[in-house]
Amino acid sequence: MFKKFKFNQFETFPELVHAISPRCFKNDQGETEEFFFQEKDKYGETNYHVKRFLESIGITNNDLYLVNQVHGDKIFILDDSGLVNSEVVKKSADALLTDIPGKPIGVFTADCLPILIYDPRLKVIGAIHAGRRGSEQNILLKVVREMNRVYGSRPKELIAGIGPAIGGCCYEVEEACIQPFRKMLPDDTHWCRSGLPGKYFLDLIAVNKMEGEKAGLLQENIFSIDQCTCCSTRNLYSYRREGKTGRILTTIMLRS
Ligand SMILES: [Zn+2]
Repeated sequence: MFKKFKFNQFETFPELVHAISPRCFKNDQGETEEFFFQEKDKYGETNYHVKRFLESIGITNNDLYLVNQVHGDKIFILDDSGLVNSEVVKKSADALLTDIPGKPIGVFTADCLPILIYDPRLKVIGAIHAGRRGSEQNILLKVVREMNRVYGSRPKELIAGIGPAIGGCCYEVEEACIQPFRKMLPDDTHWCRSGLPGKYFLDLIAVNKMEGEKAGLLQENIFSIDQCTCCSTRNLYSYRREGKTGRILTTIMLRS
């Protein structure tokens, strides 16, 4: 019950700690409580639930680094260990990269794709928020290029994990939303299916897997937790199903 989601493949690296938050946890009184990572709080250090979740995966006394997510394609490089998280969270971006141990980075989602990426040779980690608009802007490909440019990462050595997101089962969109993807991936058999007249079901996980391969990752190094947020609101949060709702936290850290 309330199991955290993890990528088995990332678990094989002892230097990594990572997890994806479930909707609920048991609090100190033994009651079921929902994780609520309040956005109003601007992910401040007082956010008890963030701390609580990090502690549950063994991250203690380390501040979580997040960015101001804007559905864009900007990548924030955390390369200054003196930078505090309250400064970083002001930066508008949708991906974070770092090679500094002891700095947990993360993204919030509710239907969008949380993607973690790891370079086991150079020990570089990344966390990506890729929704429809981020995917449209090839954020995963841009992260892979940036890892190569900044750190010298080789795409074929990278490992990527796609966390729970809205699936092709539930993500019905207008034709206009499909068009940009048709330009990127003309053969739509694997990522698009027709719905009601003028509507389509878009599979963003399939899109990002294909984009990852285009970026040079090996097919066998791209993993996904295929649990649709919209189908599983008991365990996860779905913006599409619930409207105003909580967020899923996906985090990764290099142990120091
Ligand atoms: Zn679904």
